[in-house]
Amino acid sequence: MESQGVGVVFPFVTFVPFCAAFYHPPMNKQLFQAHPWHGVAPGPKTPELVNAYIEIVPTDAVKYELDKSSGHLRVDRPQRFSSMSPTLYGFIPQTFCGREVAELCEQRTGRTGIEGDKDPMDICVLSEKAFAHGSFFLHARPIGGLRMIDGNEADDKIIAVLQSDLAYGEILKIDDVPQGLIDRLKHYFLSYKQLPSDADKRVEIVDVYDREEAMDVITRSLRDYSSEFNL
Ligand SMILES: [Mg+2]
Repeated sequence: MESQGVGVVFPFVTFVPFCAAFYHPPMNKQLFQAHPWHGVAPGPKTPELVNAYIEIVPTDAVKYELDKSSGHLRVDRPQRFSSMSPTLYGFIPQTFCGREVAELCEQRTGRTGIEGDKDPMDICVLSEKAFAHGSFFLHARPIGGLRMIDGNEADDKIIAVLQSDLAYGEILKIDDVPQGLIDRLKHYFLSYKQLPSDADKRVEIVDVYDREEAMDVITRSLRDYSSEFNL
């Protein structure tokens, strides 16, 4: 009788581990990191307070950019010159620089034939803190922006402060940012793509706008995202 009991248990003991080795549980999306552009919301208080995904920190000597298909950072190119980003730099998730953003640029400048750059809305975030690397989210409070045009493409740069930052967190207006810092941002964006010998200066910053205009630009980029991705 005893040997019969062992005989019943033994196949079961071997069968269960055999099945477990080939069993794959149903895929659970929570096991995967959300795509920084598409899988994370801009936040319930957008545009006053937004989530921002940071691609570049001021110490980076390499330009990192989101690889749109994988959602990971990819090395875009080593910086061509000594210029490094003056601030944290990245984008607001679930935004798109499309038709509505371009139309505002046309209205404000009187130009025609402007298109969006078809990227998420860029954002520069002021903070007193040093960050070791990019690829993280933070809460940012937009206070203005740079109206940048690259060729015929609107490439706005929202300027924001890191929420609760001890040095910049209380700033509400672009006019309260030191002019030298705005000049440094303008210089960076006007020069980082361009060799000194390039005769054709295709990147222009035509305006520095206030918080109210930044709210409009962000809101338009949210609608452009919805249109682009049929939401
Ligand atoms: Mg852009």
